[in-house]
Amino acid sequence: MNSIETVRKEIKAAVTEVHPPVKLTAKENRVINFFKDATPFDWEDWRWQLRYRITTKDILEKIINLTPAEEKGIEGCGNKLTMSIPPYFASLIDPDNPNCPIRRQCIPQQYELETSSEEMVDPCAEEKHSPVHGLVHRYPDRVLFLVNEMCAMYCRYCTRSRMVGDGHRTLSTHTYEAAFEYIRAHKEIRDVLISGGDPLTLSDRVLEHIIKTLKSIPHVEFVRIGTRIPVTLPQRITFDLVNMLKKYSPIWMSIHFTHPKEITKRVKFACDLLADSGIPLGSQTVLLKGLNDNAATMKKLMHELLKIRVRPYYIYQCDPILGSKHFRTPVSVGIEIMEKLRGHTTGYAVPTLVIDAPGGGGKIPIGSQYIISHEENRYTLRNYAGGQFVYHDPV
Ligand SMILES: *Cc1c(COP(=O)(O)O)cnc(C)c1O
Ligand code: SF4
Repeated sequence: MNSIETVRKEIKAAVTEVHPPVKLTAKENRVINFFKDATPFDWEDWRWQLRYRITTKDILEKIINLTPAEEKGIEGCGNKLTMSIPPYFASLIDPDNPNCPIRRQCIPQQYELETSSEEMVDPCAEEKHSPVHGLVHRYPDRVLFLVNEMCAMYCRYCTRSRMVGDGHRTLSTHTYEAAFEYIRAHKEIRDVLISGGDPLTLSDRVLEHIIKTLKSIPHVEFVRIGTRIPVTLPQRITFDLVNMLKKYSPIWMSIHFTHPKEITKRVKFACDLLADSGIPLGSQTVLLKGLNDNAATMKKLMHELLKIRVRPYYIYQCDPILGSKHFRTPVSVGIEIMEKLRGHTTGYAVPTLVIDAPGGGGKIPIGSQYIISHEENRYTLRNYAGGQFVYHDPV
């Protein structure tokens, strides 16, 4: 063994002992070994994780046993939505189970190259409601600000696959200026939702510029960040990042979670940092066929979220994006899941099920009817267990 290797080994041993996040799990150790010379320090460095995202078949086929459907998907997805998997996220994949829920989210299958007549490029018609590049102004008092096109991992069911991906044009500071101007000019905007892409792939400096500018607009009461990074690249949640965000309190964060398997110790560490910094955390989950489309999995996910101080916020019916047929469930499936959550478990564990209306109608809540009938001031209700009750309006 040469001296560099010896030193590296010593460092590895030392950090493994002293710094909990740098102590890699057996699964992580298995994957890091495919990256020559990488140390646990590299693994813990979010820029290393981004630089070494898995984008081709060569490394992936060493780590897991690819199915023919995946091989065809990887070959064909390039023109549509690139494959990109941070090594950390890849370490969560079950190498031998083609139905592994982590795997289905991030490895393309040939089915995504097939399209169905009800599917669309921009199902929520975001472009139609975009007054300036990057802004979607659909609701009266709030806007969605799409600040970039890059994510750590590209979800195969992404509703913004028309615009996300590596190699797309990054929005320039100049483009941001037009969005800031629009928000300044529209005094009714009290809430700005920063999304993308994933805003947390930006540097702290650029992110701070955006947040600081928004917060300097008097009628903007608060900003929120929509992100998947705490799940796919938890190393990005650094002390520096949360210290920066703290300065602009209140900042809310909506985190995109899909499956209980995603909630690892490393993710808990990231969410703890965020929550300890006073950032209220909410979750957003897309209902996906074969991944989380049953009450047991969904309930488990919601319970795990509460344990890491994330309040379940929305479950989305999967948007009819091009090539999404193998992910979409009938609407009734989601309603049944909601029926099995409400009343059966902690109210905080019950999010709102919505359909983001195709054509740009916004999020529409759907669910069971608990009012059985209503005559004049008399309401007949049913509870979660099927019991009937009557409520009278004041007369
Ligand atoms: C989801 C969304 C929002 C935020 O909606 P809330 O229900 O307030 O969380 C705002 N604008 C657009 C265009 C959206 O899609
Ligand atoms: S993180 Fe969000 S924007 Fe990025 S690929 Fe996934 S769903 Fe799309």
